Formats: sequence, structure tokens, C-alpha cells
Amino acid sequence: MNKAAERYRCPKCTWEFGFRKRKRCPTCGTLLLIPSDAIRDAELGILGSFWMWHPAKQTWTFIYNWEEHKREALKKLDEYLAPVKLLQRDAVEPRQRQIEKGE
Ligand SMILES: [Zn+2]
Repeated sequence: MNKAAERYRCPKCTWEFGFRKRKRCPTCGTLLLIPSDAIRDAELGILGSFWMWHPAKQTWTFIYNWEEHKREALKKLDEYLAPVKLLQRDAVEPRQRQIEKGE
């Protein structure tokens, strides 16, 4: 897979790019971070708020507070993994679900 072929569009002014020298949009100055920037966690903490590209979703997400975002992301991951962990621990009982529905 060639990541360099990916095209991005500034979420504010719709300036389109596949490659840029600086991390800011040259038109509107918005801070745009893509995975290939490989910015360190500590730097993200200093930057605080910025737009971050999600390759899986093909969309920009505005991070208003990186530290906060990390906490939320971890929480979501926990919520996402919780049912999986539950399934691994004890087998699902369909009978139990029927009882909960009031049948
Ligand atoms: Zn822009």
C-alpha cells in the first residue's frame, strides 16, 4: 500500500494536498496532522488542539485537547473490549437474555 498516494483536504478551507512541507495549511494556517508526520506524544501534548487525520475513517477529527482525547480514547477502547472480555470469560446464555426481556 502506498500511503503517499493519499489525498487530504483541509477541513476549514478545503485546500487539497497529497504532500506538504509544513504541518499547517498554507492557506488558513490550520494545524493538520497526518499519520506520516509521526509526531511524538509529548509534542501533541504541547500542541494541545489540532486536526488529526483518521485513515480508517477517511476523515479529520478535531482534537481540542490531546490529553483529554487520549483519556477518552482509552475509555472507548475499554468499553469496546468489555463485551469481548465478557464473552471470553463466560459463555453467553440466550436463556438469560429472555428472562431479562420479561419472557
Ligand atoms: Zn486550510
